[in-house]
Amino acid sequence: MKPAQFHYFAPTSVPEAVAMLAERGPDSRVLAGGQSLLIELRYRSARPALVVDINRIPGLSEVTVEDGSVHVGALVRHAQLEHAGFDDPLAELFRQVAPYVAHPPIRARGTFAGSLAWAHPASEWCALAMALGAGIELEGPAGPRTVRADSWFRGPFATACLPQELVTGVRLPRPPAGTVAAFAEHRRTHGSFALAAAMVMLRLGQDRVQWVRIGLANAAGVPLRAIGAESLLMGERPEPELLAEAAARAAADADPPDEPHAPAAYRRHALATLVRRCLARAIENTGTP
Ligand SMILES: Cc1cc2nc3c(=O)[nH]c(=O)nc-3n(C[C@H](O)[C@H](O)[C@H](O)COP(=O)(O)OP(=O)(O)OC[C@H]3O[C@@H](n4cnc5c(N)ncnc54)[C@H](O)[C@@H]3O)c2cc1C
Repeated sequence: MKPAQFHYFAPTSVPEAVAMLAERGPDSRVLAGGQSLLIELRYRSARPALVVDINRIPGLSEVTVEDGSVHVGALVRHAQLEHAGFDDPLAELFRQVAPYVAHPPIRARGTFAGSLAWAHPASEWCALAMALGAGIELEGPAGPRTVRADSWFRGPFATACLPQELVTGVRLPRPPAGTVAAFAEHRRTHGSFALAAAMVMLRLGQDRVQWVRIGLANAAGVPLRAIGAESLLMGERPEPELLAEAAARAAADADPPDEPHAPAAYRRHALATLVRRCLARAIENTGTP
């Protein structure tokens, strides 16, 4: 099917884009990588009167590494993160996760911020943002504001973004030095969305867990941080029994969707397996015997 007719506007600055969004409000949609929006337009599940294409706005395509955080501009593509060249545990996680986001042509166009704006429950980037407590930066008619990931996701494909607002970037806190990362995903075919996915960032000190974050994708209507499992691990020696207990806790605290091809119980089992696998891999990567 072809998209319904819409007006197209390609601003060259954030204020210009915001002014247009403010004027047209809910009748407009932002176009970033277009890898989800164009499908919606073609199926006519979205029929905006105006599409605001932000691809000509300069200054939104950079990944900036700062002292305590990494800033990802609104036009940073998945592929940029797949090849993140900076030396940081977060870059390691980007490099592990990105190959699981769709296919190479989609990764060349689709954006990290666009994934957070679209808010698919299976999105790996949404789970990463949730696990690390990202700040989603918005510009709107009332000025800039930042929304923390735990207030951003409101449900499947629903966020705190107002129709007249533009996501300009995402700020991710940098994990402490010495943190190791592990990611695991279960999906039906190469390039398809995750049936379930898990990621772990973990730092050991004196053979005990000093810092840990666990993110889950497709474990509920929104991405989850497995806080109960993290609490079980904090300050403890990472013995196999404890890792299994933490993994079981993460799965028990999840609320995965029940679908004919992947019932909730199956997804819960997959989540426990994935979390346990990530924890074991992370511990192994710390070099602890
Ligand atoms: C075959 C296929 C497989 C895929 N597999 C995966 C997968 O495994 N994992 C995964 O996470 N994703 C997957 N995707 C989705 C892909 O990653 C998209 O690129 C991404 O979800 C959306 O990013 P985008 O830049 O393309 O956004 P767009 O398609 O341009 O926009 C998506 C939505 O977000 C809004 N939006 C985008 N940017 C902004 C902004 N800056 N401010 C405000 N609103 C904004 C748009 O208005 C629109 O509603 C897949 C897509 C396809 C087609």
